[in-house]
Amino acid sequence: MRKKIVAGNWKMNKNLEEGHQLTSEVVNMVKDEVTSAVQVVLCTPFIHLNSISKLLAGSKNVMLGAQNCSEHASGAYTGETSVSMLKSVGTQFVIIGHSERREYFGETDALFAKKVDAVLAAGMTPIYCCGEKLEVREANNHIKLVTAQVSEALFHLSAEALQKVVIAYEPVWAIGTGKTASSAQAQEMHAEIRAHLAGKYGKNVAEEITIQYGGSVKPDNAVEIFAQPDVDGGLIGGASLKSRDFVDIVKAMK
Ligand code: PEP
Repeated sequence: MRKKIVAGNWKMNKNLEEGHQLTSEVVNMVKDEVTSAVQVVLCTPFIHLNSISKLLAGSKNVMLGAQNCSEHASGAYTGETSVSMLKSVGTQFVIIGHSERREYFGETDALFAKKVDAVLAAGMTPIYCCGEKLEVREANNHIKLVTAQVSEALFHLSAEALQKVVIAYEPVWAIGTGKTASSAQAQEMHAEIRAHLAGKYGKNVAEEITIQYGGSVKPDNAVEIFAQPDVDGGLIGGASLKSRDFVDIVKAMK
């Protein structure tokens, strides 16, 4: 049975005090209200990871994630953060390949492949994001593009390593726009990604991979999206900044 994972991507939001408050609220609500086996991940800004890690110490199912990492192990890379630094403060997940990293920082699938390797070598879980822009979908090239993103960043991995990766399908046109993919569009792409994984690694391996959906997930659309058979959780941006909304989304994952 593949894991169900709902992760919040805070992006560049929340100062330290606000981040602590949000974390405490989420931890308490999850403890009191979440009965399913879903794993919850808070992907905070780098600077908060160390202290938020301590706030999560007593929580069984709320885990710590980063939003990026360097592909390099150490050295003269001003402003960068290595996987061993992340690991040393208790980070368990690292988002790799977010569309904002592609768009604003010029990062490529070749780079993401190296970052995925670094995260796995450090014993953490990469959440690898893929997804098409609107013009690609309108030209009906979305499946081709997304499966190519998956191949380029992940297909150098062994089957054993691949099974430690989480994939997040995030159509770029749905991120932060309030325009979510329909549950049918999400299911179609998740099934295509899984079939693509099966083509390379076999059905048994593909069936074990958690594939999250991300893009304007809110409490009122989460139930329908998460009910799709190939949707195993969500990567949540804006709605992860409000504890009530985020935990309601977590509760939608059965
Ligand atoms: C994201 O940035 O990963 C995301 C899904 O954002 P939002 O939920 O705000 O669309």
